[in-house]
Amino acid sequence: MPIEPASDKVLRLDHLFIGGEWSPPEDGGEINSIDPSTGRVWAVVASGGKGDVDRAVASARAALEGPWGHMPGHERAALMRRFADLYQARAGDLAEIEARDSGRAIRETRADIGSHHHGYHWWASLADKAAGRTIPFDDTVHAFTSRVPVGVVAAITPWNVPLMAAAWKLGPALAAGCTVVIKPAEQTPVGTLELGKLFEAAGFPPGVVNIVPGYGAGDVGEWLVAHPGVDKVAFTGEGETAKAILRTGAETMKRFTFELGGKSPHIIFEDADVEQAINAATNSAWTLCGQSCALGSRVLVQRSIYDQVAEAFCSRAAKVRVGPAIDPHTHMGPQAHLAQLEKTLSYIGIGRSEGAELLTGGERLVSNTHSAGYFVQPTVFANVSNDMRIAQEEIFGPVAALIPFEDEDDAVSIANDTRFGLTAGLWTRDTGRAHRVASRIRAGMIWVNTYRFIRWSTPYGGFGASGWGRENGIEGLDGYLDTRTTIVSTHGRFPDAYVD
Ligand code: NAP
Repeated sequence: MPIEPASDKVLRLDHLFIGGEWSPPEDGGEINSIDPSTGRVWAVVASGGKGDVDRAVASARAALEGPWGHMPGHERAALMRRFADLYQARAGDLAEIEARDSGRAIRETRADIGSHHHGYHWWASLADKAAGRTIPFDDTVHAFTSRVPVGVVAAITPWNVPLMAAAWKLGPALAAGCTVVIKPAEQTPVGTLELGKLFEAAGFPPGVVNIVPGYGAGDVGEWLVAHPGVDKVAFTGEGETAKAILRTGAETMKRFTFELGGKSPHIIFEDADVEQAINAATNSAWTLCGQSCALGSRVLVQRSIYDQVAEAFCSRAAKVRVGPAIDPHTHMGPQAHLAQLEKTLSYIGIGRSEGAELLTGGERLVSNTHSAGYFVQPTVFANVSNDMRIAQEEIFGPVAALIPFEDEDDAVSIANDTRFGLTAGLWTRDTGRAHRVASRIRAGMIWVNTYRFIRWSTPYGGFGASGWGRENGIEGLDGYLDTRTTIVSTHGRFPDAYVD
Protein backbone atom coordinates (compact mmCIF):
# COMPACT_ATOMS: atom_id res chain seq x y z
CA MET A 1 0.00 0.00 0.00
CA PRO A 2 1.55 3.35 -0.97
CA ILE A 3 1.78 5.90 1.79
CA GLU A 4 -0.73 8.72 1.51
CA PRO A 5 1.28 11.93 1.16
CA ALA A 6 -1.55 14.41 1.93
CA SER A 7 -0.68 16.08 5.21
CA ASP A 8 -4.30 16.60 6.28
CA LYS A 9 -5.25 12.94 6.01
CA VAL A 10 -4.46 10.66 8.94
CA LEU A 11 -2.80 7.42 7.95
CA ARG A 12 -3.99 4.28 9.76
CA LEU A 13 -1.75 1.26 10.19
CA ASP A 14 -3.79 -0.87 12.54
CA HIS A 15 -2.05 -4.22 12.23
CA LEU A 16 1.13 -5.66 13.72
CA PHE A 17 3.46 -7.86 11.70
CA ILE A 18 3.83 -11.15 13.59
CA GLY A 19 4.63 -14.62 12.25
CA GLY A 20 4.50 -13.39 8.66
CA GLU A 21 0.92 -12.13 9.05
CA TRP A 22 -0.77 -8.81 9.70
CA SER A 23 -2.90 -9.05 12.82
CA PRO A 24 -4.62 -6.43 14.98
CA PRO A 25 -3.25 -5.99 18.52
CA GLU A 26 -5.04 -8.32 20.93
CA ASP A 27 -6.16 -5.46 23.16
CA GLY A 28 -6.82 -3.02 20.28
CA GLY A 29 -4.02 -0.65 21.36
CA GLU A 30 -2.92 2.23 19.16
CA ILE A 31 -0.37 5.03 19.16
CA ASN A 32 -0.80 8.49 17.69
CA SER A 33 2.21 9.58 15.71
CA ILE A 34 2.55 13.34 15.63
CA ASP A 35 4.11 15.17 12.70
CA PRO A 36 6.47 17.53 14.56
CA SER A 37 6.38 20.00 11.67
CA THR A 38 2.68 20.64 12.34
CA GLY A 39 2.12 19.39 15.87
CA ARG A 40 -0.80 17.33 14.51
CA VAL A 41 -1.43 13.59 14.44
CA TRP A 42 -0.48 12.30 11.01
CA ALA A 43 -0.69 8.54 11.61
CA VAL A 44 -2.36 6.13 13.98
CA VAL A 45 -0.41 2.95 14.45
CA ALA A 46 -1.21 -0.38 16.11
CA SER A 47 0.39 -0.77 19.53
CA GLY A 48 1.11 -4.26 20.83
CA GLY A 49 0.05 -5.77 24.14
CA LYS A 50 1.56 -8.51 26.27
CA GLY A 51 -0.12 -11.29 24.30
CA ASP A 52 1.27 -9.83 21.07
CA VAL A 53 4.79 -9.82 22.50
CA ASP A 54 4.35 -13.49 23.48
CA ARG A 55 3.12 -14.33 19.98
CA ALA A 56 5.97 -12.44 18.33
CA VAL A 57 8.64 -14.11 20.48
CA ALA A 58 7.08 -17.54 19.90
CA SER A 59 7.04 -16.91 16.13
CA ALA A 60 10.65 -15.78 16.19
CA ARG A 61 11.62 -18.91 18.16
CA ALA A 62 9.71 -21.19 15.77
CA ALA A 63 11.44 -19.62 12.76
CA LEU A 64 14.83 -19.98 14.44
CA GLU A 65 14.27 -23.64 15.19
CA GLY A 66 12.54 -24.20 11.85
CA PRO A 67 13.14 -22.99 8.31
CA TRP A 68 15.38 -20.02 9.03
CA GLY A 69 17.63 -21.97 11.40
CA HIS A 70 18.13 -24.69 8.79
CA MET A 71 18.59 -22.36 5.82
CA PRO A 72 22.13 -22.21 4.40
CA GLY A 73 23.79 -18.81 4.65
CA HIS A 74 23.78 -18.21 0.90
CA GLU A 75 19.99 -18.67 0.81
CA ARG A 76 19.51 -16.27 3.69
CA ALA A 77 21.73 -13.87 1.74
CA ALA A 78 19.53 -14.19 -1.34
CA LEU A 79 16.43 -13.26 0.69
CA MET A 80 18.25 -10.32 2.23
CA ARG A 81 19.28 -9.11 -1.23
CA ARG A 82 15.68 -9.34 -2.43
CA PHE A 83 14.65 -7.29 0.59
CA ALA A 84 17.41 -4.76 -0.18
CA ASP A 85 16.13 -4.34 -3.74
CA LEU A 86 12.56 -3.81 -2.52
CA TYR A 87 13.85 -1.36 0.06
CA GLN A 88 15.66 0.58 -2.64
CA ALA A 89 12.47 0.73 -4.71
CA ARG A 90 10.50 2.10 -1.71
CA ALA A 91 13.28 4.40 -0.43
CA GLY A 92 11.49 7.55 -1.61
CA ASP A 93 8.30 6.64 0.32
CA LEU A 94 10.28 5.61 3.37
CA ALA A 95 12.18 8.92 3.29
CA GLU A 96 8.88 10.77 3.26
CA ILE A 97 7.52 8.71 6.12
CA GLU A 98 10.60 9.41 8.21
CA ALA A 99 10.40 13.14 7.47
CA ARG A 100 6.80 13.20 8.71
CA ASP A 101 7.33 10.86 11.64
CA SER A 102 10.58 12.28 13.01
CA GLY A 103 10.76 15.80 11.51
CA ARG A 104 14.10 15.12 9.88
CA ALA A 105 14.43 17.25 6.75
CA ILE A 106 13.48 15.36 3.59
CA ARG A 107 16.78 16.26 1.92
CA GLU A 108 18.51 14.38 4.75
CA THR A 109 16.12 11.41 4.86
CA ARG A 110 16.37 10.98 1.06
CA ALA A 111 20.16 10.90 1.20
CA ASP A 112 20.29 8.58 4.20
CA ILE A 113 17.47 6.15 3.45
CA GLY A 114 18.41 6.19 -0.24
CA SER A 115 21.66 4.48 0.77
CA HIS A 116 20.32 1.85 3.21
CA HIS A 117 19.95 -0.83 0.54
CA HIS A 118 23.74 -0.80 0.16
CA GLY A 119 23.97 -1.67 3.83
CA TYR A 120 21.50 -4.52 3.55
CA HIS A 121 23.40 -5.87 0.53
CA TRP A 122 26.64 -5.62 2.48
CA TRP A 123 25.17 -7.56 5.40
CA ALA A 124 23.82 -10.13 2.97
CA SER A 125 27.36 -10.67 1.75
CA LEU A 126 28.34 -11.74 5.28
CA ALA A 127 25.50 -14.23 5.75
CA ASP A 128 27.61 -17.25 4.80
CA LYS A 129 30.96 -16.11 6.18
CA ALA A 130 30.75 -16.57 9.94
CA ALA A 131 33.46 -19.20 10.05
CA GLY A 132 35.06 -20.74 13.12
CA ARG A 133 38.65 -21.87 13.37
CA THR A 134 40.69 -24.99 14.00
CA ILE A 135 42.60 -24.95 17.26
CA PRO A 136 46.00 -26.64 17.26
CA PHE A 137 46.57 -28.90 20.29
CA ASP A 138 48.00 -32.37 19.69
CA ASP A 139 47.13 -35.39 17.56
CA THR A 140 44.82 -36.88 20.22
CA VAL A 141 42.06 -34.37 19.55
CA HIS A 142 40.63 -32.31 16.76
CA ALA A 143 39.39 -29.04 18.28
CA PHE A 144 37.44 -26.43 16.38
CA THR A 145 35.00 -23.58 16.88
CA SER A 146 31.77 -22.75 15.10
CA ARG A 147 29.90 -19.44 15.14
CA VAL A 148 26.23 -19.91 15.87
CA PRO A 149 23.40 -17.36 15.97
CA VAL A 150 22.77 -15.99 19.43
CA GLY A 151 19.05 -16.68 18.98
CA VAL A 152 15.96 -14.47 19.21
CA VAL A 153 16.85 -10.78 19.23
CA ALA A 154 14.74 -7.94 20.62
CA ALA A 155 15.71 -4.82 18.65
CA ILE A 156 14.66 -1.63 20.43
CA THR A 157 15.19 1.59 18.49
CA PRO A 158 15.07 5.37 19.14
CA TRP A 159 13.10 8.13 17.41
CA ASN A 160 15.89 10.20 15.86
CA VAL A 161 16.95 7.83 13.06
CA PRO A 162 14.38 5.02 13.16
CA LEU A 163 15.14 3.34 9.85
CA MET A 164 18.90 3.63 10.18
CA ALA A 165 18.76 2.16 13.67
CA ALA A 166 16.55 -0.63 12.34
CA ALA A 167 18.98 -1.35 9.49
CA TRP A 168 21.95 -1.48 11.86
CA LYS A 169 20.22 -4.20 13.86
CA LEU A 170 18.27 -6.15 11.25
CA GLY A 171 21.25 -6.37 8.87
CA PRO A 172 23.73 -8.11 11.19
CA ALA A 173 21.05 -10.10 13.06
CA LEU A 174 19.74 -11.68 9.84
CA ALA A 175 23.24 -12.17 8.44
CA ALA A 176 24.15 -14.05 11.63
CA GLY A 177 21.04 -16.24 11.31
CA CYS A 178 19.11 -14.76 14.24
CA THR A 179 15.41 -13.96 14.25
CA VAL A 180 14.10 -10.60 15.41
CA VAL A 181 11.26 -8.84 17.17
CA ILE A 182 11.66 -5.12 16.58
CA LYS A 183 10.03 -2.36 18.61
CA PRO A 184 10.38 1.16 17.21
CA ALA A 185 10.14 4.26 19.42
CA GLU A 186 6.60 5.37 20.24
CA GLN A 187 7.12 8.70 18.42
CA THR A 188 8.29 7.18 15.12
CA PRO A 189 6.75 3.76 14.48
CA VAL A 190 5.49 4.14 10.90
CA GLY A 191 8.57 3.45 8.76
CA THR A 192 9.59 0.38 10.76
CA LEU A 193 6.10 -1.08 10.50
CA GLU A 194 6.20 -0.51 6.74
CA LEU A 195 9.25 -2.76 6.56
CA GLY A 196 6.95 -5.71 7.27
CA LYS A 197 5.53 -5.36 3.76
CA LEU A 198 9.02 -5.61 2.29
CA PHE A 199 9.95 -8.68 4.35
CA GLU A 200 6.69 -10.28 3.29
CA ALA A 201 7.22 -9.45 -0.39
CA ALA A 202 10.82 -10.67 -0.27
CA GLY A 203 9.58 -14.10 0.81
CA PHE A 204 11.12 -14.39 4.27
CA PRO A 205 9.81 -17.37 6.24
CA PRO A 206 7.13 -16.36 8.77
CA GLY A 207 8.48 -15.20 12.11
CA VAL A 208 12.01 -14.29 11.02
CA VAL A 209 11.18 -10.60 11.49
CA ASN A 210 8.27 -9.48 13.70
CA ILE A 211 7.33 -5.83 14.16
CA VAL A 212 5.53 -4.76 17.32
CA PRO A 213 5.21 -1.02 17.91
CA GLY A 214 4.35 0.00 21.44
CA TYR A 215 5.68 1.94 24.40
CA GLY A 216 8.93 1.23 26.22
CA ALA A 217 8.80 1.27 30.02
CA GLY A 218 6.09 -1.01 31.44
CA ASP A 219 5.02 -1.98 27.95
CA VAL A 220 6.25 -3.72 24.79
CA GLY A 221 9.91 -2.68 25.29
CA GLU A 222 10.13 -3.88 28.87
CA TRP A 223 8.16 -7.07 28.20
CA LEU A 224 10.55 -7.97 25.40
CA VAL A 225 13.56 -7.39 27.64
CA ALA A 226 12.05 -9.51 30.42
CA HIS A 227 10.84 -12.27 28.11
CA PRO A 228 12.57 -15.62 28.73
CA GLY A 229 12.25 -16.44 25.03
CA VAL A 230 14.46 -13.51 24.00
CA ASP A 231 18.21 -14.20 23.98
CA LYS A 232 19.63 -10.78 23.16
CA VAL A 233 18.63 -7.14 23.35
CA ALA A 234 20.04 -4.79 20.71
CA PHE A 235 19.28 -1.32 22.00
CA THR A 236 19.87 2.23 20.80
CA GLY A 237 18.77 5.03 23.06
CA GLU A 238 19.57 6.83 26.28
CA GLY A 239 21.94 5.65 28.99
CA GLU A 240 19.29 5.71 31.72
CA THR A 241 17.05 3.49 29.61
CA ALA A 242 19.99 1.14 29.02
CA LYS A 243 20.50 0.80 32.78
CA ALA A 244 16.81 -0.04 33.26
CA ILE A 245 17.06 -2.60 30.45
CA LEU A 246 20.17 -4.07 32.03
CA ARG A 247 18.36 -4.53 35.34
CA THR A 248 15.30 -6.10 33.70
CA GLY A 249 17.33 -8.33 31.39
CA ALA A 250 19.68 -9.54 34.14
CA GLU A 251 17.00 -11.90 35.44
CA THR A 252 17.14 -13.96 32.25
CA MET A 253 20.86 -13.39 31.53
CA LYS A 254 20.33 -11.57 28.26
CA ARG A 255 23.15 -10.51 26.00
CA PHE A 256 23.22 -6.81 25.19
CA THR A 257 24.39 -4.34 22.61
CA PHE A 258 24.02 -0.73 23.72
CA GLU A 259 24.40 2.26 21.39
CA LEU A 260 23.95 5.24 23.70
CA GLY A 261 24.55 8.95 23.81
CA GLY A 262 27.50 11.16 22.99
CA LYS A 263 28.96 14.59 23.63
CA SER A 264 31.51 14.50 20.91
CA PRO A 265 34.47 16.86 20.66
CA HIS A 266 35.02 18.42 17.24
CA ILE A 267 38.51 19.93 17.44
CA ILE A 268 39.72 22.67 15.08
CA PHE A 269 43.46 23.40 15.26
CA GLU A 270 44.85 26.69 13.98
CA ASP A 271 46.73 24.87 11.20
CA ALA A 272 43.51 23.35 9.80
CA ASP A 273 41.84 24.16 6.52
CA VAL A 274 39.51 26.35 8.54
CA GLU A 275 36.88 26.78 5.87
CA GLN A 276 36.42 23.02 5.49
CA ALA A 277 36.42 22.59 9.24
CA ILE A 278 33.70 25.22 9.60
CA ASN A 279 31.63 23.50 6.90
CA ALA A 280 31.83 20.26 8.85
CA ALA A 281 31.38 21.75 12.30
CA THR A 282 28.33 23.85 11.42
CA ASN A 283 26.76 20.97 9.52
CA SER A 284 27.38 18.69 12.44
CA ALA A 285 25.84 21.19 14.85
CA TRP A 286 22.49 21.48 13.07
CA THR A 287 21.96 18.42 10.92
CA LEU A 288 19.07 16.29 12.19
CA CYS A 289 18.12 19.39 14.22
CA GLY A 290 20.96 18.37 16.53
CA GLN A 291 19.35 15.02 17.30
CA SER A 292 22.16 12.60 16.64
CA CYS A 293 24.46 10.88 19.08
CA ALA A 294 27.42 11.40 16.72
CA LEU A 295 27.23 15.16 16.28
CA GLY A 296 30.14 17.32 17.35
CA SER A 297 28.17 19.19 19.97
CA ARG A 298 31.36 20.41 21.68
CA VAL A 299 33.33 22.47 19.16
CA LEU A 300 36.86 22.89 20.49
CA VAL A 301 38.60 25.80 18.75
CA GLN A 302 42.22 26.89 19.15
CA ARG A 303 42.33 30.33 20.75
CA SER A 304 44.11 32.06 17.80
CA ILE A 305 41.22 31.29 15.39
CA TYR A 306 38.40 31.31 17.95
CA ASP A 307 36.82 34.65 16.92
CA GLN A 308 37.00 33.76 13.24
CA VAL A 309 35.21 30.45 13.85
CA ALA A 310 32.62 32.02 16.16
CA GLU A 311 31.80 34.64 13.52
CA ALA A 312 31.47 31.97 10.84
CA PHE A 313 29.08 29.97 13.05
CA CYS A 314 26.85 33.04 13.39
CA SER A 315 26.81 33.83 9.68
CA ARG A 316 26.07 30.18 8.82
CA ALA A 317 23.29 30.03 11.41
CA ALA A 318 21.61 32.93 9.62
CA LYS A 319 21.59 30.88 6.40
CA VAL A 320 19.95 27.76 7.83
CA ARG A 321 16.45 27.42 6.40
CA VAL A 322 14.33 26.07 9.24
CA GLY A 323 11.02 24.72 8.04
CA PRO A 324 8.66 21.79 7.57
CA ALA A 325 10.59 18.57 7.18
CA ILE A 326 8.70 17.61 4.05
CA ASP A 327 9.74 20.80 2.18
CA PRO A 328 12.75 20.03 -0.05
CA HIS A 329 14.13 23.53 0.60
CA THR A 330 14.31 22.97 4.34
CA HIS A 331 17.79 22.56 5.78
CA MET A 332 16.69 21.88 9.33
CA GLY A 333 13.32 20.50 10.41
CA PRO A 334 11.75 20.67 13.85
CA GLN A 335 12.66 18.80 16.99
CA ALA A 336 11.13 15.34 16.76
CA HIS A 337 8.65 15.78 19.61
CA LEU A 338 7.43 18.30 22.11
CA ALA A 339 9.35 16.88 25.09
CA GLN A 340 12.59 17.17 23.11
CA LEU A 341 11.81 20.77 22.16
CA GLU A 342 11.21 21.57 25.82
CA LYS A 343 14.44 19.80 26.79
CA THR A 344 16.44 21.83 24.27
CA LEU A 345 14.90 25.13 25.37
CA SER A 346 15.58 24.24 28.97
CA TYR A 347 19.27 23.54 28.21
CA ILE A 348 19.50 26.88 26.40
CA GLY A 349 18.26 28.45 29.62
CA ILE A 350 20.83 26.45 31.59
CA GLY A 351 23.62 27.63 29.26
CA ARG A 352 22.60 31.26 29.81
CA SER A 353 22.45 30.87 33.56
CA GLU A 354 25.83 29.12 33.62
CA GLY A 355 27.35 32.22 32.02
CA ALA A 356 27.94 30.97 28.48
CA GLU A 357 27.59 33.71 25.86
CA LEU A 358 24.58 33.18 23.56
CA LEU A 359 25.86 34.38 20.17
CA THR A 360 22.78 33.57 18.14
CA GLY A 361 19.50 31.65 18.28
CA GLY A 362 18.09 30.30 21.49
CA GLU A 363 14.37 30.72 20.77
CA ARG A 364 11.47 28.60 19.64
CA LEU A 365 10.25 29.63 16.16
CA VAL A 366 6.53 30.39 16.11
CA SER A 367 5.93 32.42 12.93
CA ASN A 368 3.20 31.52 10.41
CA THR A 369 5.53 29.23 8.50
CA HIS A 370 6.33 27.35 11.66
CA SER A 371 2.75 27.15 12.95
CA ALA A 372 2.43 24.73 15.87
CA GLY A 373 5.53 22.75 14.91
CA TYR A 374 8.42 22.12 17.29
CA PHE A 375 10.94 24.45 15.65
CA VAL A 376 13.91 26.02 17.35
CA GLN A 377 16.57 28.38 16.04
CA PRO A 378 20.07 27.12 15.28
CA THR A 379 21.89 28.18 18.40
CA VAL A 380 25.50 29.02 19.22
CA PHE A 381 27.03 29.48 22.64
CA ALA A 382 30.53 30.95 22.92
CA ASN A 383 33.04 30.93 25.76
CA VAL A 384 31.69 27.67 27.03
CA SER A 385 33.74 26.04 29.70
CA ASN A 386 33.88 22.26 29.62
CA ASP A 387 32.55 21.87 33.15
CA MET A 388 29.25 23.56 32.24
CA ARG A 389 26.22 21.30 31.96
CA ILE A 390 25.75 22.31 28.31
CA ALA A 391 29.21 20.82 27.65
CA GLN A 392 28.73 17.68 29.72
CA GLU A 393 25.14 16.60 29.11
CA GLU A 394 23.55 15.48 25.87
CA ILE A 395 21.11 18.20 24.75
CA PHE A 396 19.99 16.59 21.47
CA GLY A 397 19.08 19.97 20.00
CA PRO A 398 20.71 22.32 17.45
CA VAL A 399 23.00 23.89 20.04
CA ALA A 400 26.71 24.33 19.35
CA ALA A 401 28.99 24.96 22.33
CA LEU A 402 32.23 26.68 21.27
CA ILE A 403 35.03 25.93 23.72
CA PRO A 404 38.44 27.61 23.35
CA PHE A 405 41.70 25.69 23.87
CA GLU A 406 45.37 26.67 23.98
CA ASP A 407 47.41 23.77 22.60
CA GLU A 408 47.37 20.08 21.74
CA ASP A 409 47.50 18.85 25.34
CA ASP A 410 44.73 21.22 26.34
CA ALA A 411 42.56 20.05 23.42
CA VAL A 412 43.05 16.38 24.31
CA SER A 413 42.36 16.96 27.97
CA ILE A 414 39.11 18.88 27.24
CA ALA A 415 38.07 16.30 24.63
CA ASN A 416 38.47 13.44 27.11
CA ASP A 417 36.83 15.26 30.00
CA THR A 418 33.46 13.60 29.45
CA ARG A 419 31.74 10.43 30.56
CA PHE A 420 30.86 9.71 26.92
CA GLY A 421 33.19 8.33 24.26
CA LEU A 422 31.26 7.82 21.06
CA THR A 423 32.84 9.90 18.31
CA ALA A 424 35.35 12.73 17.85
CA GLY A 425 36.65 14.84 14.99
CA LEU A 426 39.81 16.81 14.48
CA TRP A 427 41.02 19.20 11.82
CA THR A 428 44.72 19.81 11.19
CA ARG A 429 47.11 19.87 8.23
CA ASP A 430 49.86 18.28 10.35
CA THR A 431 49.79 14.52 9.74
CA GLY A 432 51.84 13.76 12.83
CA ARG A 433 49.48 15.77 14.99
CA ALA A 434 46.49 14.04 13.38
CA HIS A 435 47.80 10.61 14.43
CA ARG A 436 49.03 11.79 17.82
CA VAL A 437 45.77 13.39 18.83
CA ALA A 438 43.59 10.65 17.32
CA SER A 439 45.45 8.04 19.36
CA ARG A 440 44.95 9.97 22.60
CA ILE A 441 41.20 10.54 22.36
CA ARG A 442 38.93 8.05 24.10
CA ALA A 443 36.16 7.47 21.57
CA GLY A 444 34.97 4.60 19.43
CA MET A 445 35.14 6.56 16.16
CA ILE A 446 37.61 9.33 15.27
CA TRP A 447 37.38 11.41 12.10
CA VAL A 448 40.37 13.35 10.80
CA ASN A 449 39.67 16.22 8.38
CA THR A 450 36.13 14.98 7.89
CA TYR A 451 33.15 14.38 10.12
CA ARG A 452 30.26 11.93 10.45
CA PHE A 453 31.45 9.68 7.66
CA ILE A 454 29.70 6.46 8.67
CA ARG A 455 29.25 3.36 6.54
CA TRP A 456 27.84 -0.11 7.10
CA SER A 457 31.39 -1.44 6.75
CA THR A 458 32.93 0.76 9.48
CA PRO A 459 32.47 -0.45 13.08
CA TYR A 460 30.53 2.06 15.15
CA GLY A 461 30.01 2.24 18.88
CA GLY A 462 31.20 3.91 22.02
CA PHE A 463 33.60 3.84 24.91
CA GLY A 464 32.47 4.62 28.46
CA ALA A 465 28.88 5.79 28.86
CA SER A 466 28.37 5.67 25.09
CA GLY A 467 27.68 1.97 25.06
CA TRP A 468 28.70 -1.64 24.72
CA GLY A 469 29.56 -3.52 21.54
CA ARG A 470 29.78 -2.41 17.96
CA GLU A 471 27.28 -2.07 15.16
CA ASN A 472 28.38 -2.15 11.52
CA GLY A 473 31.62 -3.54 10.20
CA ILE A 474 32.52 -7.20 10.40
CA GLU A 475 32.75 -6.62 14.17
CA GLY A 476 29.03 -5.86 14.11
CA LEU A 477 28.31 -9.56 13.53
CA ASP A 478 30.00 -10.53 16.81
CA GLY A 479 27.12 -9.34 18.96
CA TYR A 480 24.77 -11.70 17.14
CA LEU A 481 26.97 -14.79 17.26
CA ASP A 482 27.99 -17.23 19.96
CA THR A 483 31.07 -19.43 19.77
CA ARG A 484 30.69 -23.17 20.12
CA THR A 485 33.88 -25.17 20.72
CA THR A 486 33.86 -28.83 19.66
CA ILE A 487 36.61 -31.27 20.69
CA VAL A 488 36.72 -34.64 18.97
CA SER A 489 39.02 -37.36 20.24
CA THR A 490 40.97 -38.99 17.43
CA HIS A 491 41.26 -42.33 19.33
CA GLY A 492 38.02 -42.50 21.38
CA ARG A 493 39.66 -43.87 24.54
CA PHE A 494 38.87 -42.49 28.01
CA PRO A 495 40.72 -43.88 31.07
CA ASP A 496 38.74 -45.45 33.91
CA ALA A 497 39.46 -43.15 36.87
CA TYR A 498 38.39 -45.73 39.44
CA VAL A 499 40.85 -48.60 38.95
CA ASP A 500 44.21 -48.73 40.77
P1 NAP B 1 15.14 6.21 24.81
O1 NAP B 1 14.16 7.08 25.50
O2 NAP B 1 16.16 5.50 25.62
O3 NAP B 1 14.24 5.17 23.99
C1 NAP B 1 14.83 4.26 23.10
C2 NAP B 1 13.90 3.07 22.92
O4 NAP B 1 13.82 2.36 24.16
C3 NAP B 1 12.47 3.45 22.56
O5 NAP B 1 11.97 2.50 21.65
C4 NAP B 1 11.77 3.36 23.89
O6 NAP B 1 10.40 3.15 23.77
C5 NAP B 1 12.46 2.17 24.49
N1 NAP B 1 12.35 2.07 25.96
C6 NAP B 1 12.18 3.07 26.85
N2 NAP B 1 12.16 2.56 28.11
C7 NAP B 1 12.31 1.21 27.99
C8 NAP B 1 12.39 0.14 28.93
N3 NAP B 1 12.30 0.34 30.26
N4 NAP B 1 12.55 -1.12 28.47
C9 NAP B 1 12.65 -1.35 27.14
N5 NAP B 1 12.59 -0.37 26.21
C10 NAP B 1 12.43 0.89 26.63
O7 NAP B 1 15.94 6.99 23.70
P2 NAP B 1 15.38 8.00 22.63
O8 NAP B 1 15.03 9.25 23.37
O9 NAP B 1 14.34 7.32 21.80
O10 NAP B 1 16.62 8.25 21.69
C11 NAP B 1 17.56 9.26 21.91
C12 NAP B 1 18.81 8.66 22.51
O11 NAP B 1 19.33 7.67 21.64
C13 NAP B 1 19.92 9.69 22.70
O12 NAP B 1 20.52 9.52 23.95
C14 NAP B 1 20.90 9.32 21.59
O13 NAP B 1 22.21 9.70 21.84
C15 NAP B 1 20.73 7.85 21.50
N6 NAP B 1 21.19 7.36 20.20
C16 NAP B 1 22.37 6.69 20.13
C17 NAP B 1 22.84 6.22 18.90
C18 NAP B 1 24.14 5.47 18.79
O14 NAP B 1 24.34 4.82 17.79
N7 NAP B 1 25.01 5.52 19.77
C19 NAP B 1 22.10 6.45 17.75
C20 NAP B 1 20.90 7.13 17.85
C21 NAP B 1 20.45 7.57 19.10
P3 NAP B 1 9.38 4.40 23.87
O15 NAP B 1 9.87 5.41 22.91
O16 NAP B 1 8.08 3.87 23.47
O17 NAP B 1 9.45 4.83 25.28
